[in-house]
Amino acid sequence: MRKLGISFVLGLVAVVSAGPLAAQSPAPVTLVKAGRLLDPRTGSVLSPAAVLMEDGKIKEVGPPSQLQAAAPAGVKIIDLGSATLLPGLIDGHTHLFMDIVVLPEVEQDRHSNGLFAPELLLAIVESPSKRTLLGAQMAREDLESGITTVRNLGHSGIDGDSELRDAINAGRVPGARVLASGRKLETRGETYVQNLNPALAASILQQEFLLFDSADQARQAVRQNVFHNVDVIKVTAEENLTIPELAAAIEEAHRNHLKVAVHAIDKTSIQTAIDSGADSIEHGNDATDQQLRQMRDKGIYLDLTPTFYGGGYLKFAEPVIVIPPAARAERLSSAARSKQRYDQLVQRVLKSGVKYAAGSDMCWFYPGKTRGQSSTATFVNLRQAGMPSLDVIRSITTNAAEMLGWQDRVGAIEPGKFADLVAVAGDPIADITELERVRFVMKNGEVVRNDFASH
Ligand SMILES: [Zn+2]
Repeated sequence: MRKLGISFVLGLVAVVSAGPLAAQSPAPVTLVKAGRLLDPRTGSVLSPAAVLMEDGKIKEVGPPSQLQAAAPAGVKIIDLGSATLLPGLIDGHTHLFMDIVVLPEVEQDRHSNGLFAPELLLAIVESPSKRTLLGAQMAREDLESGITTVRNLGHSGIDGDSELRDAINAGRVPGARVLASGRKLETRGETYVQNLNPALAASILQQEFLLFDSADQARQAVRQNVFHNVDVIKVTAEENLTIPELAAAIEEAHRNHLKVAVHAIDKTSIQTAIDSGADSIEHGNDATDQQLRQMRDKGIYLDLTPTFYGGGYLKFAEPVIVIPPAARAERLSSAARSKQRYDQLVQRVLKSGVKYAAGSDMCWFYPGKTRGQSSTATFVNLRQAGMPSLDVIRSITTNAAEMLGWQDRVGAIEPGKFADLVAVAGDPIADITELERVRFVMKNGEVVRNDFASH
């Protein structure tokens, strides 16, 4: 859309390849029946419920008797028994192209050259082809757990996420719908991969980041991402970043009809993001009450990422490395302190009236779990942090859709939206961990998973 010439050429390619891809088209008309349907927007439950779908879109929602009577002959009926239907889940912040194995602390200390290094460095210097296949696996595992849409915010090489998005949309590989950010914009001083070989540093870093030192360079960086047809712009705000630089990036992104997600954790960076007119603030852990009010007044989304809530490091590390008892005790007490702060943040967010959504920020290898299982477990952390179940569900459906600017496409089971549905066996309001056990997944009207079928 933004590059008419190229879209036109791609359009021709799509026509030429319509034959082989047509085999993956959904059945023209499908009716899904279930005991209950939860509408996250209102919290109301339709029971029993049915959803009629045509050509990958939702056509009608209502009582099964009514929809079945109106359905055309030959409609494909999927009966999920007493299950509860929900909209397909949305992960507002993820990293499909990283699967970091945490290192023992002693090794982290010895290689201390910036956050996540050398784990992050490894991701950059490995073969981009290998990395692309990893991204495809993560997108498939997310989908199998009911995450039908993800916003991938950086760490994908130059074009990994936009290419994966296109491959999924073309039916080449299964996976969640991807909103791709391309490379993450950062000021040079903020790059957290440090102590690189000076002879190679620039060429290594440009595989992963778009570095800028001025407002003009920030605009150029946005345009470079636009060239790779991204869906969203990601900027990292730390104390170096100035308001004119970030505002320039945001203006250029908005000119291209792209929203800007700004990573900001400390108070100063959050203020820079607010004053520059960010569309969403990612993480936002240190936001003050006043900042939450400013965000509410400006309509800026807070994208909560409770990845390490309750001691993420231990969860990711314990099954694969030996942690000395003293280090373990220290990790546990620091997890308890940060849990307390996060519980307070969630309460302050709910009280402030700021708009919020949630993202897994998952980029970690979580032993014993698929990427989808580790991401949904992160959403459930919000309930542990005191957020009511319905609000947790909103933060990964209706709210997330609006944060993405995709409220007309995803996030609710409503006529006209993509036929993205999930179902769980129990009541997710009574037990939010049902979200970790999604048993039916439909994306675009196609069944991805149906564990109810064998019963
Ligand atoms: Zn992130």
